[in-house]
Amino acid sequence: MAGSGKFFVGGNWKCNGTKDSISKLVSDLNSAKLEADVDVVVAPPFVYIDQVKNTLADRIEISGQNSWVGKGGAFTGEINVEQLKDIGCKWVILGHSERRHVIGEDDQFIGKKAAYALTEGLGVIACIGEKLEERESGKTFDVYAVPSWDNIVIAYEPVWAIGTGKVASPLQAQEVHVAVRDWLKKNVSAEVASKTRIIYGGSVNGGNCAELAKQEDIDGFLVGGASLKGPEFATIVNSVT
Ligand code: PGA
Repeated sequence: MAGSGKFFVGGNWKCNGTKDSISKLVSDLNSAKLEADVDVVVAPPFVYIDQVKNTLADRIEISGQNSWVGKGGAFTGEINVEQLKDIGCKWVILGHSERRHVIGEDDQFIGKKAAYALTEGLGVIACIGEKLEERESGKTFDVYAVPSWDNIVIAYEPVWAIGTGKVASPLQAQEVHVAVRDWLKKNVSAEVASKTRIIYGGSVNGGNCAELAKQEDIDGFLVGGASLKGPEFATIVNSVT
């Protein structure tokens, strides 16, 4: 843990769940014992955010999985930042690799979304991460420009590790987290570099979280598959060292 905030664990539920399965997940999370000194956030599918907000303990904050790039209006199928705030979200995940590589969002568009969300007071879980061929060619990340770094958590998620069961080794993840921190130091400021939380995502589970959490520059996790199981997600939250 090197970022000066608390350990941060986010559960990205992606496009999963039904009213019933989400009600079970919420009740498992409500009865789990969660380490007090950890920021815990879950990102349900939009249509279930209200259900989760009304039933989940306040100790866990809620995030959108995406947001529109500006004010609302004639943008069919989009959800805007004001709506996320209105329904009780404190965060939004932006730049997730599934949105980049499946939906086709690019850095410039994601950067604009992040700038808008931050200006409107929503925290941003900003995802970065390389594809396997990029890793092999030495390229691991691009970080986009934002107006302020106060309310951003950076999630490093190597694309080859997401949903594949192929987790980065603790040392591999640590190495990239250090590189991201160095990038922040050189391109933003030493203060932002030392206080920004850099979390790891990609096949994190109850079995591998403890070793990853021991790494100095891993300040938390963004969890996909394993966040759909309440007790396992609680194990990951409690892996803080
Ligand atoms: P995973 O997903 O934990 O299922 O690999 C992580 C993510 O996409 O945030």
